[in-house]
Amino acid sequence: MTQKIGLVTGGSRGLGKSTALALAAQGIDVVITYLSQQAAAEQVVAEIQALGRKAVALPLDVAQASTFPAFVQVLREQLSQHWQTEHLDYLVNNAGTGIHAAFTDTTEAQFDQMVNIHLKSVFFLSQQLLPVLNNGGRIINLSSGLARFALPGYSAYAAMKGGIEVLTRFMAKELGARNITVNTVAPGAIETDFGGGLVRDNQDVNRYVASQTALGRVGVPDDIGPMIAALLSDSNRWVNAQRIEVSGGMLI
Ligand code: NDP
Repeated sequence: MTQKIGLVTGGSRGLGKSTALALAAQGIDVVITYLSQQAAAEQVVAEIQALGRKAVALPLDVAQASTFPAFVQVLREQLSQHWQTEHLDYLVNNAGTGIHAAFTDTTEAQFDQMVNIHLKSVFFLSQQLLPVLNNGGRIINLSSGLARFALPGYSAYAAMKGGIEVLTRFMAKELGARNITVNTVAPGAIETDFGGGLVRDNQDVNRYVASQTALGRVGVPDDIGPMIAALLSDSNRWVNAQRIEVSGGMLI
């Protein structure tokens, strides 16, 4: 069987790191991207290699769509050099950071930043990676529980995640002809550096989320990464165009 290869954007920390390691544990080689934390990304590469899999870390700013053609070129070269192929099997659109601002206070610049990081990036990076993605490949787009329930301060961010969920269905519709599945994974609140680590470090927020979660605690990265890896396994090949919330039952 040919070696499967996945690309996880934002694989240096948090959910992307957990996903990359879970894929490696499942026998999949991984290309991760990072924005600025190269050392953390190289550490993830080392951990993947320790699991006996190949990995490479590449820089990518998903807010800069004009750089995507050059990124795809570098990716092709790396795939060719390390795997003797120019193709991938899995794409996990994970990278990104949030802003916390009330609807009344959100500036146009903040809104544009959220569009670029969370919506435009997934649209155009996926589009430009299509020639690299094998027929029969899989795409997972990260949304958020906040696209289903509303908490104050996330209107711009959550609106983009809502857009991702619609985009996922359209991508699935159009890419089905190539046997490519596209699904949304929507995590609840997870203890990562996201949003300045608010959910992890602010005890009031942490307690509130736990109290609103059926399973009685806040999520951790390894509640998400192994789930994404499982969704990419062959057992889930018929799951398509779905939004799967992974929140321990938050705000149900
Ligand atoms: P983290 O802040 O822990 O990690 C963010 C990752 O994305 C890092 O690898 C970072 O790279 C990279 N990144 C940040 N901005 C950019 C950018 N402009 N271009 C490219 N890469 C970038 O976040 P999480 O792991 O928590 O979040 C991952 C995804 O999950 C996001 O899409 C987020 O919206 C979503 N999510 C998170 C939830 C949570 O509660 N944590 C809940 C629901 C959804 P570097 O290390 O180099 O800075």
